[in-house]
Amino acid sequence: MRWDNLTDNPAKTTKDGDGALFAADAVTTRTFDTPEFRGITFHEVRARSIVNRVPGASRMPFEWTVNPYRGCSHACVYCFARKTHSYLDLDTGLGFDSQIVVKINAPELVRRELASSRWHGAHIAMGTNVDCYQRAEGRYRLMPGILTALRDHANPFSILTKGTLILRDLELLRQAAEVTEVGVSVSVGFIDPELWRTVEPGTPSPERRLDVVRTLSEHGIGCGVLMAPVIPFLGDRPDQLRATVRAIAAAGATSVTPLVLHLRPGAREWFMEWLGLHHPELVGRYERLYADGAYAPTWYQRRVTRHVHELATEYGIGPSHRGTPRTLPGGVEPQPPLDGSAPSQLTLL
Ligand code: SF4
Repeated sequence: MRWDNLTDNPAKTTKDGDGALFAADAVTTRTFDTPEFRGITFHEVRARSIVNRVPGASRMPFEWTVNPYRGCSHACVYCFARKTHSYLDLDTGLGFDSQIVVKINAPELVRRELASSRWHGAHIAMGTNVDCYQRAEGRYRLMPGILTALRDHANPFSILTKGTLILRDLELLRQAAEVTEVGVSVSVGFIDPELWRTVEPGTPSPERRLDVVRTLSEHGIGCGVLMAPVIPFLGDRPDQLRATVRAIAAAGATSVTPLVLHLRPGAREWFMEWLGLHHPELVGRYERLYADGAYAPTWYQRRVTRHVHELATEYGIGPSHRGTPRTLPGGVEPQPPLDGSAPSQLTLL
């Protein structure tokens, strides 16, 4: 593994401009013989910096991120953060799901960097690369320290997650929301149980994720839903879209933002292999739909987006009905990537 390239992406610039490398002697590799961590290897590292500037941030809905983990045991087949594992010479398929890099000093670094005179209190987005509430967080408990530092500095932030573990930190989120802007979004692209089991095998079920939305809302923390990804030919039938939006509305989401599956290199190969195994009859249709690259054609994206927006209106979700801003990391406007310029750091959590 290339520990000298342990950055969120190879061209990354950090707040301190040092490239955020990890010292090779700072790596400890562990496995845990408990059912939830069986088959997973953790690489504990001490990062040199943690608040990262997103390259090309002008095209992103956020400029600064904190990512305490690399790799994700939620193991979504379509996850385009897979590509980032290749920077470490790690496998982007099973390796991404099971070789997890843990930045064990993330909380102390966040606190230190927020206290720096050079820090200007910008919004920080979390869950933009991999899920900060993936299973590893249950053991490493990095997020409470990070949230505490953000709260203490009244620094605005947002979290995008599929992890129910976020509820463990409900009280900290509530305290932070009293002093700064806090945005939480949960990702639920569909509620079909069969599709979930095969394409998002390591995640909590969509029902449990919607319970998170419900619980956060009940505790005064408005929560949007990133309806992503909408998976062509598997999760895009009108009845499926309706059922999903209805469930999202019933959970009390403040907004619903649809995003069609995109297949960037790294994710594309893994997804197509999965498709050939589980839905071989669709391989040709996918090759045609994604013939021009990572994104489905604009007409397709528009069709899905319009349909979801109509359903959202019907079920009373969205700012026009609640007066609540839609919240995505960094306050991104919930527009679909109709011009092919989707936020490339948003991994469709
Ligand atoms: S899409 Fe999100 S939750 Fe799924 S594997 Fe990627 S980072 Fe993890």
